[in-house]
Amino acid sequence: MLNFTVGPVMSAPEVLELGAQSAPYFRTPEFSKIMLENEERMLAFLRAPEGSRCVFLTTSGTGGMESVVMNVLRASDRVIAVNGGSFGERFANLSVLHGRETAEIRLPFGAQITAEDLAPFEGAGYTALLVNMDETSSGILYDMRLLSDFCRRNGVLLVVDAISAFLSDEIDMEALGAAVVITGSQKALAVAPGVAVIALAPEALRRVFENPETCLYLSLRQALTNGERGQTPFTPAVTTLLQIHRRLELIEERGGIAAERARIRRIALLFREKIAPYGFAPVAQAPSFAVTALRAPGRNAREIVRVMKDEYDIWLCPNGGEIGEEVFRVGHIGEISEADIETLMKAFAALKARGIIG
Ligand SMILES: *Cc1c(COP(=O)(O)O)cnc(C)c1O
Repeated sequence: MLNFTVGPVMSAPEVLELGAQSAPYFRTPEFSKIMLENEERMLAFLRAPEGSRCVFLTTSGTGGMESVVMNVLRASDRVIAVNGGSFGERFANLSVLHGRETAEIRLPFGAQITAEDLAPFEGAGYTALLVNMDETSSGILYDMRLLSDFCRRNGVLLVVDAISAFLSDEIDMEALGAAVVITGSQKALAVAPGVAVIALAPEALRRVFENPETCLYLSLRQALTNGERGQTPFTPAVTTLLQIHRRLELIEERGGIAAERARIRRIALLFREKIAPYGFAPVAQAPSFAVTALRAPGRNAREIVRVMKDEYDIWLCPNGGEIGEEVFRVGHIGEISEADIETLMKAFAALKARGIIG
């Protein structure tokens, strides 16, 4: 299988080897050391400000988003949620579900956010903003400078879901003034699913310890307290955490996070150059390097995804709902080589020769 979805994605052989072994017992100094190194490396890669912490929850990315809504947001927060696709909608729904006053900025699918979209919220007493930096359903990479400036100017807490943007697009927590950044193990980290990674700047940490605890399993207070000694309150996805450790080490060995981002960018740009003559319209006004969402003029996006999978063993990413007839996505994260792009393009050429692509 060649996997061009946006997660789970293909992993490096060094990471896969760990998946073939039994999970070790984890209440040990050896495992604690691994966890402390994971925390240190993640904070460095995210350029988190001094005094930040990072925790690893055994849950999917959405569990990380929900944990942040429950633990970092205050009951009194007035929340802005950027909603330009299914992940923005999820963030907004979580905020409403947990009783926060929530205003949505609804954007057309694939559209960039502008100062005009933010204008009604200037000086209007909002206290937190939730955004999926790369809205993975359309691949739009939001203008984080614009959002960061808005949040600074208005004293608004900036919460960034970078579940697909981490490692594909540039993130500097300190420069953005982001209080929280969330990512997940199965996206560009390219290991098994099961772990949400949450980095918290000092402002977010203060909120976690001031807020009343309203949950047990997703409690950030518990995760942070146990994390001080490199442990977790409950049995974690031990193997996935070992894989994260190896993966972060590999990134360092291969030249660091800038080199990894450059590799993903190269793969994304190579694909975009080669797909251009096929006449699919790109969906995102400003695409993330994690994924390319394309509109199939024949409204046969699902058919393209199915034929690629069933007949060529190449996995693309379908979209959910009504838009799924029109739009499919090609991911650029994970262990994808230039030779893999060649294989993918041969399959696109074959679909064209067969008349499946117009
Ligand atoms: C994948 C993704 C999620 C959800 O992650 P799960 O692990 O499927 O819960 C949330 N936000 C963004 C931006 C994503 O790309």
